[in-house]
Amino acid sequence: MEPLAKYVFVTGGVVSGLGKGVVTASLGCLLRARGVAVTLQKIDPYLNVDAGTINPYEHGEVFVTRDGLETDLDIGHYERFLDQDLGRPNYLTTGQVYWSVIQRERRGDYLGRTVQVIPHVTEEIKARIRGALEATGSELVVVEVGGTVGDIEGLPYLEAIRQMRDELPRDDVAVIHLAYVPILSTTGELKTKPTQHSVKELRAAGIQPDFIVARCPISLPDALRRKIALFCDVPVDHVIEDRDLPSIYEVPLCLAEEELDVKLLRRLNLEPKESDLRAWKDFVQRLKNPENFVQIGIVGKYVELHDAYLSLVEALRHAGAALGARVEIRWIPAERVEKEGAEALAGVQGIIVPGGFGERGIEGKIMAADYARRQGIPFLGICLGMQVAAIAFARAVLGRKNANSTEFDPRTPDPVIDLLPEQTKVQEKGGTMRLGEYPAELAPGSKIFSAYNLERIHERHRHRYEFNPRYLELFSRAGFVPSALSPDGRLVEALELRDHPWYVAVQFHPEFRSRPLRPHPLFLSFLKACLSS
Ligand code: GLN
Repeated sequence: MEPLAKYVFVTGGVVSGLGKGVVTASLGCLLRARGVAVTLQKIDPYLNVDAGTINPYEHGEVFVTRDGLETDLDIGHYERFLDQDLGRPNYLTTGQVYWSVIQRERRGDYLGRTVQVIPHVTEEIKARIRGALEATGSELVVVEVGGTVGDIEGLPYLEAIRQMRDELPRDDVAVIHLAYVPILSTTGELKTKPTQHSVKELRAAGIQPDFIVARCPISLPDALRRKIALFCDVPVDHVIEDRDLPSIYEVPLCLAEEELDVKLLRRLNLEPKESDLRAWKDFVQRLKNPENFVQIGIVGKYVELHDAYLSLVEALRHAGAALGARVEIRWIPAERVEKEGAEALAGVQGIIVPGGFGERGIEGKIMAADYARRQGIPFLGICLGMQVAAIAFARAVLGRKNANSTEFDPRTPDPVIDLLPEQTKVQEKGGTMRLGEYPAELAPGSKIFSAYNLERIHERHRHRYEFNPRYLELFSRAGFVPSALSPDGRLVEALELRDHPWYVAVQFHPEFRSRPLRPHPLFLSFLKACLSS
């Protein structure tokens, strides 16, 4: 018998930023809770090959998969809601699609034919959508089409979906359209016209949606459900409410109330099995009813744009919920620390310096790392955060006043952070960092060891520069000791202060592996230290 292969597409209309990624991730969560072998795929219709070269100001954080792909932050939502590692087959951009088509053309694979968007680009898209099912051994894939219907970039994808609808049995393909039902501020009325228009746009591409998910500020009255059903030509029980909620983790529960998962499975001619959302509900309960409170300062470059640190914030929430504590984040621009001094950090119970690139704000981050060391405040340095902690230590404790990373000062006399020989040859920007999962061995007796309680860990990376092994001895002797090394002992993966309540700096990004139901050990350990300080 052929394995099951069901395709669900999620398109969006009216405006971007409606939370299509969270709806897609929530569907993944709900289907998985019903025992469906589901995977998720994101289509980013822009020409970038991956998200690695995109400025966080535009799209928020770059998420890194275990297999080293730099993706849009939605893949992070998917992993957290599905509680599964995803990878290359789960993320698709126009850059990748054209790259393959053009390479094939160069090889002469098209046998002299004219290479066109239809059929050659659309065939490549369809192959990659099918590929997500095959590569992950799933029976159902929910594919989110980024952007809004009507965008020029999205057209080949909508055409591919239209073709799949034609080619496959009706039961194997469903389309969910997420649209916006705003409130008019003058009259306080909910308006369905934008939704109607966006469905019209989808139909112009030859696609009739099966479900309308209506993002709305308040609950959707029945009369409006009927109106949307009538104008958009879907059954009234296929109009699904997606109202604003205090936390994204409540979205699966809201969609479950609307029975979106059950209705979708029936539409695909699959008998819904019993759902088990107990652990998820329990997590949401803990998130909403904290007994404790802890304030964490995050010192970064893009702090005005919280999406740039999305996984970090989520990792703190997961660990906070597990410990019964609400984590309040104080966002502190690194440049403010430069101007006002480390006093800008006064009052926080823990300090995080997250990952980052470029020189702006670096001195402020170094000051923050130094302040946490001097004051005995729990400190977690992540990637660039570890690098600045090393610079701060070299300057203040080792007396190397001009210590730096060669990223910021190529001529520093003390390059405590430097490029390793394999990186010095790299010229291109895209995809050339140390990316994805690498093993590290933990030193018994260290804080990081007691956090993980493991000898060997696997964590995700995204950086070019490394701790310079020349300084290892000096650091160790002065009390900033390497507590995690690569298995060959060449790369320093973590440093921690010997004489400090909790000061751990890691070269990797633990935040990418934190899950609501499996909070990350390093964040748990850090927050515990903050709570008891
Ligand atoms: N800019 C630093 C490097 O490339 C740190 C990168 C990061 O924090 N992700 O090594």
